[in-house]
Amino acid sequence: MPEEYSMLIGGKKVKATTGEVSEVINPANGQVVGMVPKCGEADVDAAVRAALEAAPAWAARTMTERSKVLLKLSRLIMAHHEELAQLETAEHGSPIRKTMNFDVPLCAEQIEYFAGVARAMTGETLPVGPWCTSITIREPLGVVGLITPWNFPALMVVWKLGAALVTGNACVVKPPSVAPLTTLKLGDLAMEAGVPAGVVNVITGPGETAGEALVRHPQVAKIGFTGDTATGKRIMSLASDTVKQVGLELGGNNAFIVLADADIDSAVEGAVWSAFFNSGQVCAAAGRFYVHDSRYDEFVEKMVAAARQLRYGDPMSMETVMGPVAYEAHRDKVEGYIEGAKKAGARLLCGGTRPDTPETRSGFFVAPTIFGDCTNDMRLMQDEVFGPVVGISRFKDLDEAVALTNDTKYGLSASVWTRDLRTGLNVAGRIKAGTVWINEHLIIFCETPWGGCKQSGWGKDLSTMALDEYTMTKHIYIDLTGEPVKPWYGLLK
Ligand code: NAD
Repeated sequence: MPEEYSMLIGGKKVKATTGEVSEVINPANGQVVGMVPKCGEADVDAAVRAALEAAPAWAARTMTERSKVLLKLSRLIMAHHEELAQLETAEHGSPIRKTMNFDVPLCAEQIEYFAGVARAMTGETLPVGPWCTSITIREPLGVVGLITPWNFPALMVVWKLGAALVTGNACVVKPPSVAPLTTLKLGDLAMEAGVPAGVVNVITGPGETAGEALVRHPQVAKIGFTGDTATGKRIMSLASDTVKQVGLELGGNNAFIVLADADIDSAVEGAVWSAFFNSGQVCAAAGRFYVHDSRYDEFVEKMVAAARQLRYGDPMSMETVMGPVAYEAHRDKVEGYIEGAKKAGARLLCGGTRPDTPETRSGFFVAPTIFGDCTNDMRLMQDEVFGPVVGISRFKDLDEAVALTNDTKYGLSASVWTRDLRTGLNVAGRIKAGTVWINEHLIIFCETPWGGCKQSGWGKDLSTMALDEYTMTKHIYIDLTGEPVKPWYGLLK
């Protein structure tokens, strides 16, 4: 029998008041790996109330005290390294070599980063005039709702939780229904680390009911959301009822630009990494490749050869570098893009079929797929595919490369590959995106801000800017004149 998990509300492990549960499926083999509560509005309300009750005491602790709790959480994550990695591989299908070497250590590192950097937070003293002191202080927002996607089930929670917790907020976390188990485990570890009951609550349930109840809740000060652009739009509109703050980390279809002078071998390494890491289920994955006419054939030939080498199969094997996509309906959606690209006249260069080996037969696998001769009007080049399927197109000059790159509703990230850094910087400046890499793609650090523009959202995760997202700046004015009547009162006399 698959394990039946509980939610975390007010420090207690609880089931949904409705009694309903939903299955979590291993996408590598279609088997049920756990059952989680399918919570309703009453449970969301209970979680928010628990957070409201716990928030003032947590906010009243010193930054040092909260930081120490986070450092303990970071150590506990590493103490449960293997367990967390296996859980994430089972619920999401990410290869174990990735969850062991990337996701879990990064979660620990990012919590550690926020624990440290928050202690350097300061306010300001503003030079208004000699008759007053004007200062700013930073306060926690209160109760924040964190709604996260399935593509990096643990990391996407940690990005938000680290910044929100250390700055003194109480959190209600709503992980994705597809992969909620690592978040439930992180909730348990937070309690073990000494986070007081009610400061971290984890509820499980569908976005349309549990997620929306959290967004609508009048006592929730902010929603930190990472997910699809369409969901982000819905959250924005729901949040307007209570004039709630929203942070939106949304979708992307990210350009990878190879200039005429690029080191092609290095660009090909970066291309395969950024297209197929996590089976292409990365908001910043490169999905559109624009290659200078003079290097197109060489680049395409080498990228296709490298993509064919990728070992996909059982994600529990350390040899596997690419697992399945996260769930069956998503596999079908990705396959829809493959069919659409074929019909639209793109040239299939590799992949394009469902892998059929004993290891992949009962899972939701998509082979690494590359299309050439793409044009920007194809859905493949405009939509976010969120799978291991990419399109390549040619350009003649820099203006055309920049125009093609900016011809999208998204603005999350892009990369430029060139030996000439002056040109690289110039192109980076002309691209409308939150991040532009030069001679790299898909590398993100705790210290660097992450967030998009256009329909990729707004706000920043990571870096010290994430601390701003979870604090309010309050201005305090102190009169120093000691005079009962100020000159400006004369305007009313
Ligand atoms: P999704 O929008 O379907 O779901 C994200 C979360 O929102 C889930 O927890 C879901 O249950 C919840 N949700 C769904 N509908 C809701 C509603 N009406 N109200 C409130 N909550 C709701 O996204 P997904 O498919 O889980 O994740 C993939 C998407 O996430 C991709 O578009 C990807 O680009 C994006 N993403 C963006 C970033 C970034 O940093 N910009 C990072 C990772 C993923």
